[in-house]
Amino acid sequence: MNSELLHAKLKENFGFEKFRPNQETIINTILSGHDALAIMPTGGGKSICFQLPALVLPGITIVISPLIALMKDQVDSLKTNGISACYINSSQSSEEQQFYIDNLKSNTFKLVYIAPESLSYLDSIFNQLTISLIAIDEAHCISSWGHDFRPAYTNLGYLKNRFPSTPVLALTATADKATRTDITKQLNLKNPKTFVASFDRQNLSLEVRPALDRVKQIIDFVQNKPNQSGIIYCLSRKTTEELADKLLKTGIAAKAYHAGLDSKLRAKTQDAFINDDCQVVCATIAFGMGIDKSNVRWVIHYNLPKNIEGYYQEIGRAGRDGLPAETVLFESYADLIQLQKFASEGLNSDVQLAKLERMKQYADALSCRRKILLSYFGELVTENCGNCDICKKPPIFFDGTILAQKALSAISRLQESEPLAVIVDFLRGSRNAYIYEKNYQSLKTYGIGADISWYDWNQYLIQLINLGYCEIAFHQHNKILLTPFAKKVLFEGEKVKLTTVIKKTIDKAESKEA
Ligand code: ADP
Ligand code: ZN
Repeated sequence: MNSELLHAKLKENFGFEKFRPNQETIINTILSGHDALAIMPTGGGKSICFQLPALVLPGITIVISPLIALMKDQVDSLKTNGISACYINSSQSSEEQQFYIDNLKSNTFKLVYIAPESLSYLDSIFNQLTISLIAIDEAHCISSWGHDFRPAYTNLGYLKNRFPSTPVLALTATADKATRTDITKQLNLKNPKTFVASFDRQNLSLEVRPALDRVKQIIDFVQNKPNQSGIIYCLSRKTTEELADKLLKTGIAAKAYHAGLDSKLRAKTQDAFINDDCQVVCATIAFGMGIDKSNVRWVIHYNLPKNIEGYYQEIGRAGRDGLPAETVLFESYADLIQLQKFASEGLNSDVQLAKLERMKQYADALSCRRKILLSYFGELVTENCGNCDICKKPPIFFDGTILAQKALSAISRLQESEPLAVIVDFLRGSRNAYIYEKNYQSLKTYGIGADISWYDWNQYLIQLINLGYCEIAFHQHNKILLTPFAKKVLFEGEKVKLTTVIKKTIDKAESKEA
């Protein structure tokens, strides 16, 4: 369709002057009968990509969406624009659902939003409908590789088989390359044109901090921003509740949110957050999908996320208004170990473990984090971003050979049988019960690193792990083992570069005391 005509439709039906990036090409792809996969960040304007074709095409457009809570709003807003639409989902009685099904036959609606669970209602009248377009929103839900798998999505592939000449548009805000391939395959898309809008959100600052004293760090952080609302993502339901309690005790208006809570309470918390009555929500990843609050000023990850897709989606809930917003990720080895355990026991363990590994590499990065993030989604960025902790305070490297030798020989003296914390205690000559019980104080390298703080040793050891000189034996109580490369440092004079520990929070604490 020619551009002028499309623009006229856009203006007439939605009141917009111009298309956002990719919208027009996606619409043209659909109108020419091709399948398409559209990946656009939340708020990027995915809806127009199927709503406008729905108006132009002769029959009805079916929109599959898992977001039952949002369907009504979407349908209402279409109606305000004079577009006839309805929705069918389990919030309605079966009589109501049947009512709309019967009405579809009379061709009064241009769009029908339907939850995948309710699709079976359509079976009986499929043959009587002219379906012009099938839009599958939140398409990543079909992939168990992604982070929000919905079993009801898995059989959506039959739609393409049943209506081979109807274009299918799959839309999502979150799909890395592996998930994209999986979506295409499972939906049986035919050579779909793939559109990826830029994921760059320059207004979000990126920061990773070691998870030392994270509750205290969080309290300091929130207290420094009295009127700014934010979300703290936690791995477990229990943590959300405990953390909300701790924040409440210091006078911060915080609430917990997770899928185990009563749905009324959840709705109440969500409303309170949207209306600025609740400053902080401590939530599992159940919180946020479809929440439209533009002035979330910060997002904290209390735990390491499972993968970069989820992480990016979650930090993306901050700063939708385009104004500066902060994101902080707390990195802890204990979390990593737990996530590794989950991943290795779950579905597609190879893929999940590989994704977790990328997440860890991001957290351990020593170069611009935004570059890493965007390259994960296939975007090449040449300039450093200037708005991540690494860009703001680049790590300074120094000759850490002697430190490395001390640490590696400590590991060797302890016969590669102890976890990280004990190695640090041993290096620092700590006089704790465990050391004495094991008689470690009598070993040769005991206390050779007493001049370096516990925190710094911890960080140096993590760097040595990342450099590949030693490794964590996850299945053997997390003891630290030497790798064959350790020999090079211990006996062959290999030099090791370490970096000064990024001590942002500690600096802050010190300057406060001063
Ligand atoms: P998504 O589904 O990608 O999260 P939406 O389709 O809900 O995003 O669009 C986000 C917001 O942007 C909506 O308020 C929508 O009206 C607006 N929008 C979409 N396309 C345009 C456009 N071309 N010009 C101006 N605003 C737009
Ligand atoms: Zn950067």
